[in-house]
Amino acid sequence: MKIGVLAVQGNFREHIQMLRRLGADAVEVRKPEQLAELDGLVVPGGESTTFMRLMRLYGLDEALRRFQGPVLGTCAGMIVLDRDHLGLVDIAVDRNAYGRQVASFEADLALDGDERPLRGVFIRAPRVREAGPDVQMLAELDGEPVALRDGRFVVTSFHPELTDDTRIHERFLELVKEAVKPPVRASGPGKGAPGEPGGCPATEEELYVRSQ
Ligand code: GLN
Repeated sequence: MKIGVLAVQGNFREHIQMLRRLGADAVEVRKPEQLAELDGLVVPGGESTTFMRLMRLYGLDEALRRFQGPVLGTCAGMIVLDRDHLGLVDIAVDRNAYGRQVASFEADLALDGDERPLRGVFIRAPRVREAGPDVQMLAELDGEPVALRDGRFVVTSFHPELTDDTRIHERFLELVKEAVKPPVRASGPGKGAPGEPGGCPATEEELYVRSQ
């Protein structure tokens, strides 16, 4: 599985390390054309205004809009994906909304379907003001969502790449695995993935060879 991490700014190195620990082939992404070869993409934390500016400059905003695979957005990455920015995730977010005194803090979060609390590192974190009806809460803090899933998108207001807990990245990689799985064929002898013996031909050339 090839996962790209947007490396225009922010905490991309930590994400790469964590993804590699989990066995993914993680690469730094700076050019729009790189997205074509990815199975999944991470938009890391940093500073969302700088992020948006640099993404526009390199054409990465349009490339991200066209990207069809699963995406993980953390902190500033969550802001970039929200209704007011790229409009890919159905949430409205307030930036830096956890107060001035405690702009950065750590907390134990309740993770959906898991007894073990998840340690969340919040750094001038965005706060979710509103979420659309199809958005699912994955983790909460004091009853408020801090990790959410909207279809193929997972977003967190905290930084899962800054602890040793790999569970958010694992859930994201599960989505990627699901998405790259070849479709199950209903019946018949044509088993196997495209291009494999028994699978549908991967190329026109192969189709030609097989028909001989
Ligand atoms: N406060 C930053 C912003 O508004 C996000 C902080 C972060 O990514 N750690 O973009």
